[in-house]
Amino acid sequence: MTNYVVGITGGIGSGKSTVAELFEELGITVADADQASRDIVKPGETAYLAIVEKFGSSVILGDGTLNRAYLREKIFSRKSDRLWLENLTHMPIMQNLTNTLRHAESAYGILMLSTGIGKSPLMHRMIVVDVDPELQVSRVKQRDHNDESLIRKIMASQPKREERLSWADDIIENNGDLTSLRQKVYDFHETYLKLASHA
Ligand code: ATP
Repeated sequence: MTNYVVGITGGIGSGKSTVAELFEELGITVADADQASRDIVKPGETAYLAIVEKFGSSVILGDGTLNRAYLREKIFSRKSDRLWLENLTHMPIMQNLTNTLRHAESAYGILMLSTGIGKSPLMHRMIVVDVDPELQVSRVKQRDHNDESLIRKIMASQPKREERLSWADDIIENNGDLTSLRQKVYDFHETYLKLASHA
């Protein structure tokens, strides 16, 4: 188990996954909350069975996997269902993430969170990836081919930039190119190696 955990968060399209991949390049284990939330609802998992029992067979696709779009629609139309699902999945997600970190052989581990989450007790340090909002819109537009208005709506539903920045121990500003981002990650890596060795 690595005993030093660095969290990464940031708004939609800020570059969290890109930053996490750069840490992976350096051999650092990354536990990804989005991935964990998908893993724990794979067919046969406890949460999967509970969801099928609650919502019936319409929540399953032909190949047996969950129809996530249907489920998303359900939980956004009924708050009690959303709370039920959050309650059901919280523990298994946390277990999945701690399990990944426990088995990490790197000097420290990265915990990549979805956009709306602040620092948790599991983390020793928190990185916030920050990007100019207009660049954020254009990068997401290019990646997902979404409508600009939808992207702005999602951004508005997320914690405000200032609030996110207030969670940060370290800020990675991602307005430059990938070469400069890589250099920043490599510099923080050196810092974390030192901090982890004293933890
Ligand atoms: P989400 O919150 O939607 O999961 P994210 O924060 O993980 O997004 P990424 O997917 O890493 O963000 O980055 C968003 C897009 O911007 C991607 O297409 C990525 O390749 C691109 N990108 C990230 N950083 C840079 C950069 N420094 N230069 C150019 N493109 C970048």
